[in-house]
Amino acid sequence: MTLYRARIVDTPVDPFTGAGLRAEEDGGIVVDESGVIRARGPFAAVRADHPEETVIELPGGMLLPGFVDTHVHYPQVRVIGGLGMPLLDWLDQCALPEEARLADVAYAKGVARDFVTGLVDAGTTSALVFGSHFATAVDAMFAAADLAGLRVTTGLVVSDRSLRPELLSTPDRAYEEARGLAERWHGRGRLRYAVTPRFSFSASDAMLESCAATFKEVQGSWFTSHVNENLFEVAEVRRLFGGTNYVHTYANHGLVDRNSVLAHNVHPVDEELALLASQGASVAHCPTSNSALGSGLFPLRRHLEHGVRVALGSDVGAGTGFSLLKEGLQAYFMQQLLGAEGVPLTSAHLLWLATASGADALGLADTVGDLSVGKQFDAVWVLPQAGNPLDVGLGNARSTLDALAKVFALGTTTDIEGVWVGGDQVAAGRFRRPATR
Ligand SMILES: [Zn+2]
Repeated sequence: MTLYRARIVDTPVDPFTGAGLRAEEDGGIVVDESGVIRARGPFAAVRADHPEETVIELPGGMLLPGFVDTHVHYPQVRVIGGLGMPLLDWLDQCALPEEARLADVAYAKGVARDFVTGLVDAGTTSALVFGSHFATAVDAMFAAADLAGLRVTTGLVVSDRSLRPELLSTPDRAYEEARGLAERWHGRGRLRYAVTPRFSFSASDAMLESCAATFKEVQGSWFTSHVNENLFEVAEVRRLFGGTNYVHTYANHGLVDRNSVLAHNVHPVDEELALLASQGASVAHCPTSNSALGSGLFPLRRHLEHGVRVALGSDVGAGTGFSLLKEGLQAYFMQQLLGAEGVPLTSAHLLWLATASGADALGLADTVGDLSVGKQFDAVWVLPQAGNPLDVGLGNARSTLDALAKVFALGTTTDIEGVWVGGDQVAAGRFRRPATR
């Protein structure tokens, strides 16, 4: 077993219910050979109980749970930063031409490597990944995630209307390809299958019914899609489905339950929030994407009041990078800009949204999300370079809550010094294991 010594900060209890941070200023965590945390507490006490274990010192900065990204598009890593367009223009001009290139398997493998590198460098250890429209490209994603050891849930993206023709499929073909992918990858290592219609805008009822068959037949699979992102899109979906609410276009096919994560939900009506809450489904809030595309200000307060689970997503490539520190900060900004309608967020809320709530949304709360005894050691060591503004801020922080606020305000992917998944170190400084290039 290995004993890690660090300043340990996490959120085992939901801060939206009044809980605060849990911190060990000089803490110890014992991790066994299978990556499970066996002991945790003040370093001196843990050391006294485990005098023989090898100690790994992580001095300075802080050790956080691995980040959980609940909405991130693998085929869009190379088009991050296409600013200046609303959703549907951005899709047509920026995202979908690139997504079409993944028909070429060699190209897709390169994109998968770039994508996994992006996750690891950002300290993201678990992710619900929006896949590709091409089954061979989804194989490439699963293989790259498996090689890196990340906890990835992903699948074939399906559509049968309104997109460029090479991205379209049929309900039968979508079902056959999805079942093949699930057979090859679902439950292998840390991988799981996600049933993924792009959005109701581009999926007919027949296609959604084909998705429902896969979702029902692949035990333990997940469902993900987009919902209520952009006002024009919302109106079009309502027209296409004869006045049906957007969430209900999925729910009518049995696609909204505890294993469902819907991205955005910037413009929900109350019936949709009530349905999401009653089904235990989650919403992936993607603040930099919502800001970049001008989609709107996320109504977090209404989600909380209805009891809807909310976690964070980077929404690469409409989002502006892989860092959940940046997403947490942008979530904070958005709530500030909402004034009286907003929810004032502390750094404890931001950490919860970036870690434990994501694990909960993905059904992984028993395994990861915080650094409690019994959980897998998925962790991120944030260590700024000596003298940089984050380092200065940490040296002058008034409290752990204040120090963590500085991590969200100033931290970037270059401050991620170490990343572990299930006790395996997958990145350290500029080193990544295995080499992904
Ligand atoms: Zn998205």
